[in-house]
Amino acid sequence: MLNMRLAPRVVNLKPSVTVAFMNRAKTMKAQGLDVLSFAAGEPDFDTPQKIKDAAIQALQAGQTKYMPTMGDAQTRQVIADKFERENGIRGLTPEHIGISSGGKHALYVVCHVLFDIPEPGQPAWECVLPVPAWVSYAPIVELAGGRVVEVPTTVETGFKATAAQIRAAITPQTRMVVLNSPSNPCGTMYTPDELRQIARVCDEAARTIAPDLVILSDELYEKIIYGGIEHFSIGSVPEVAERTVTLNGLSKAYGMTGWRVGYTCMPGAFGLKLTSAMATLQGQMSTNITSFVYPAIRTALTECAAEVEEMRRAFAGRAEVANARLARIPGVKNARATGAFYAFPDVSSYFGAVSPGGRKINSALDLCEALLAEALVAFVPGEDFGGCGARHVRISFACGEAQINAGIDRFEAFLGALRRG
Ligand code: GLU
Repeated sequence: MLNMRLAPRVVNLKPSVTVAFMNRAKTMKAQGLDVLSFAAGEPDFDTPQKIKDAAIQALQAGQTKYMPTMGDAQTRQVIADKFERENGIRGLTPEHIGISSGGKHALYVVCHVLFDIPEPGQPAWECVLPVPAWVSYAPIVELAGGRVVEVPTTVETGFKATAAQIRAAITPQTRMVVLNSPSNPCGTMYTPDELRQIARVCDEAARTIAPDLVILSDELYEKIIYGGIEHFSIGSVPEVAERTVTLNGLSKAYGMTGWRVGYTCMPGAFGLKLTSAMATLQGQMSTNITSFVYPAIRTALTECAAEVEEMRRAFAGRAEVANARLARIPGVKNARATGAFYAFPDVSSYFGAVSPGGRKINSALDLCEALLAEALVAFVPGEDFGGCGARHVRISFACGEAQINAGIDRFEAFLGALRRG
């Protein structure tokens, strides 16, 4: 092999543990093993037929060429209308909307437009991140030159940061405050009131010490709610509307993970500037998303409410099963899921044990490795979600109730067979 180096920036990059466990479970299944996977944050529902038809028609009609980098005006208008109608975010034009290849790509582009590598001797811009949080926020912010300031939360309080905690984490260096409700990996949600309080402290901090503060509200799971808490977009609060980027996408609500569609909005004059900078960056990166997908976005956002509701109901039933089953397992502490399709139980009371196969369980990673190898159940270890995540595992219940019951049966049996080390 040639003795050549790779970029240290990438060599030192932490691989996504959600993607890693999802791929491992898929590979084991392909080898014929009876793996029950709860790793992927991926609905098992197929994309609604109407949406597929829209893309097929566009493909047949020859919509196969380059398009404007951030998307055609018609699709951007449909997204602007969706944000206004469903999220109460006003004053949006197509130029305030960005369309990227998935929520992750949109986040990546936003972060690279807002953060930069600091000049030597200068402090980095900071990203306030309530943790546990989805594994990709911190690496993406850090790649862009930002520094993550974690705000710790716990299972007891439903993994929610208070407005006071967020205020205490804001400094003159704060560039971004990330919010993700419903939460991946926690499955919990902020109430509208809690978000209004967070908006208030962000507004106050921005006017006094942190003039560059932008709120990044990741609302990918907004449609998957079932716990009685209403979804609320912080970008609809007038005081912070023009400093909030709202991030969404089609992956979770419409069973479209493989299509890779993410989109953003930010109203106001700075929103125009941000979106135009995103277009410059994306224009040197990937240009537009797949051309014949644009009509499918319009169909999804305007014609598929019934399909989304049907999937939401199914997720509600699954959450009920997962919540009830997990509440009954001795030594497992779980916060009731109210949104998204995740449970994130604390399993640390089992640390120090030894599995029937002789594996020492000293961490969430050890537990997930042993569970996968010995019980053929794939959960995601919580370490990379940050904060108390090291004591937790993530269970994605985006699968049928029979699989949830079978998987939790195996998990319970596995825990029951652990011996004290
Ligand atoms: N967002 C999903 C998850 O958390 C898909 C994988 C990823 O992008 O992290 O499982």
